[in-house]
Amino acid sequence: MKRPVVLIGFPVGHSLSERMQNAAFKHLGLDLYYYAAEIRPEELPEAIRGLSKLGFAGANVTIPYKEQVLPFLDHLDQSGYEAQAVNTVVCRDGKLWGYNTDGEGFIRSLAEEGIVPRGKVFCLIGAGGAARGVAQALVRQGAACIYFINRTPKRAFRLVEDISHDAEKAGSVLTTELKALPWCRESFEAALSRAQVLVNCSPVGMYPRVFDSPLPYPELLRPSLVVYDLVYNPYQTALLREAASRGCQTISGLGMLVYQGAAAFSLWTGMSAPVEIMWAAAKSSITGER
Ligand code: NAP
Repeated sequence: MKRPVVLIGFPVGHSLSERMQNAAFKHLGLDLYYYAAEIRPEELPEAIRGLSKLGFAGANVTIPYKEQVLPFLDHLDQSGYEAQAVNTVVCRDGKLWGYNTDGEGFIRSLAEEGIVPRGKVFCLIGAGGAARGVAQALVRQGAACIYFINRTPKRAFRLVEDISHDAEKAGSVLTTELKALPWCRESFEAALSRAQVLVNCSPVGMYPRVFDSPLPYPELLRPSLVVYDLVYNPYQTALLREAASRGCQTISGLGMLVYQGAAAFSLWTGMSAPVEIMWAAAKSSITGER
């Protein structure tokens, strides 16, 4: 009998992980299968706690549960601990281990586009689970500064505090300047006048609301800015279309999806992921031009 791996989120209709992971399992002839389950907030504790007993190899956790899942896990890997957000769960000897592969996926996809984070200034829109993984990875890579602008400002301030506190606890010197700013034009002006890379870490623009953009002031986009959208469905989001029309280099979240998935695949199986197969499966199920 095949062992299941489940994607837990709400909603999960937008996810491409199911096709991508099943293509990878099939390619290597593994006795695993992946499916997506829409879990309501009140069902989350039961769903997570049941994973080991019900024979799951592991799980992915997506919007909006990456932070909420932490109390139900037995162990946190360094990546999950640093981000205080988990997107991958591994069932090992009856215990649940939490990892965050979003940061690794993000950095690998940036590298593929020729972008080295060291010494660069980033502006992140959003301060949820994905922003946490991305921010911790950028700190590890030596980014010069990260601006956080979030609709609910206190969440961005808390994220900055958490990263600073973690560095202090680990006895390490934080070389990345971290700034949380309120959600207003002045903040976007200040951040985008310095930033080299703008990253949308919010779900705004995701299918089916494909005409929404998370940036209320598109006129602030300069041609020298790189614009990265974590949203991958559609491939060309409204933000990326706007940025491209203003001469910016644009990057879709599809690369991050593939590489965070490849890292999760390796955690569940102990094997290298067939990245080409995963890319092909993801691309073939995406909406919009590539
Ligand atoms: P999350 O934990 O629920 O956080 C969502 C963030 O977006 C919060 O900061 C929230 O602000 C903000 N937000 C939500 N709706 C907004 C709106 N209408 N206007 C402005 N801000 C809004 O979700 P997540 O796990 O971080 O995921 C965020 C997005 O990244 C999702 O679309 C997800 O699919 C995508 N993602 C992609 C990849 C990839 O591999 N490409 C990986 C991870 C995530 P508040 O604090 O004000 O609620």
